[in-house]
Amino acid sequence: MEQLKCIGCGIDIQTEDPKKEGYAPAASLEKEEVICRRCFRLRNYNELQPVSLSGDDFLAILNGIGDKEGLVIKVVDIFDFNGSWINGLQRFVGQKDILLIGNKSDILPKSINRNRLINWMKAEAAKLGLKPIDVLLISAYKGQGMEEALNAIDEYRKGKDVYVVGCTNVGKSTFINRIIKSATGVGEVITTSHFPGTTLDLVEIPLDDGKAIYDTPGIINNHQIAHHLDTTDLKAITPKKELKPKVFQLNAEQTLFIGGLARFDFIAGDRSSFTIHVSNELQIHRTKLENADSLYANHLGEMLSPPSGESLDKMPPLVRHEFSVKKPKTDLVISGLGWITVQHPGVVVAVHAPRGVDVVLRPSLI
Ligand code: GDP
Repeated sequence: MEQLKCIGCGIDIQTEDPKKEGYAPAASLEKEEVICRRCFRLRNYNELQPVSLSGDDFLAILNGIGDKEGLVIKVVDIFDFNGSWINGLQRFVGQKDILLIGNKSDILPKSINRNRLINWMKAEAAKLGLKPIDVLLISAYKGQGMEEALNAIDEYRKGKDVYVVGCTNVGKSTFINRIIKSATGVGEVITTSHFPGTTLDLVEIPLDDGKAIYDTPGIINNHQIAHHLDTTDLKAITPKKELKPKVFQLNAEQTLFIGGLARFDFIAGDRSSFTIHVSNELQIHRTKLENADSLYANHLGEMLSPPSGESLDKMPPLVRHEFSVKKPKTDLVISGLGWITVQHPGVVVAVHAPRGVDVVLRPSLI
């Protein structure tokens, strides 16, 4: 059978996977002209649907924009900074400036010092080989910081095109949909277009001066905890509201389980307090360190969940990371899940997190 192509963007039509590009419901193939769901929603609702890609295809896109002029916007999830990092971006974007935007600022507790977070993001970016022209915090969902972001984009693009990149789940589509709403009048239609040199469509949002903002597909990053969970579990770990920090006074040789997704062992040191910042929906269980292994073996997926259901099979085994904390107020960040603030120095602790999920130390943001 002849391969059907979308009349909007030209992509090959497929009917199997709604999350992949080119999806159209099987029933729609009866029509004379077939349009993929993404183009359909864009045309009819001016709304962008997230599509995702794996590494190689994504690199092809980055290569495609390497020699163009313009500004690159990299969107990261501040809750999953390391997990949503795209490695080697600086190498691919050539001479273009990169504006780093941290999304989901609405879930930060009020006590967090935003400048500290921005400074940490700058330092982490530098460690990872990226020198952004600026770092901004926004909530695409609530619209916070969007006006400043739009002004900054206008300034930094210097009359050139803009390319938006990001991993899946960072909120890139939510961000772009906000831009579309502010850039289009009632009844106006956004165009999709093929990007020369790749087989993939980039969505083009025209700007007043003839230039455009291009949305790239979200890259699937296997370090993201999100990819190991089914939809229900992902909902449970993804904070929707401002985090409520939970304080625990622990003695040495006590353990806290964060659902069944991570485990925190207080190994040695004086009685001390630890503050957990994770989604309010996640249950924390306290136990003795000596009982922790058997509790996990016997209750994973029930008392210790998520993971549950399908996620149980998808979850990689937990890996232990030990730290001797020397400085007061240190955060142990479990990418995509949250962080634990160690209030006092001189303690030895261990964090067990799914294999591939980064665990890093940072100075507390409070
Ligand atoms: P994409 O895969 O990067 O295009 O991400 P989406 O825009 O589809 O968003 C992924 C998830 O993050 C969804 O559950 C969104 O509701 C959520 N999200 C997006 N932006 C924000 C935000 O600013 N704050 C919060 N709390 N959640 C957000």
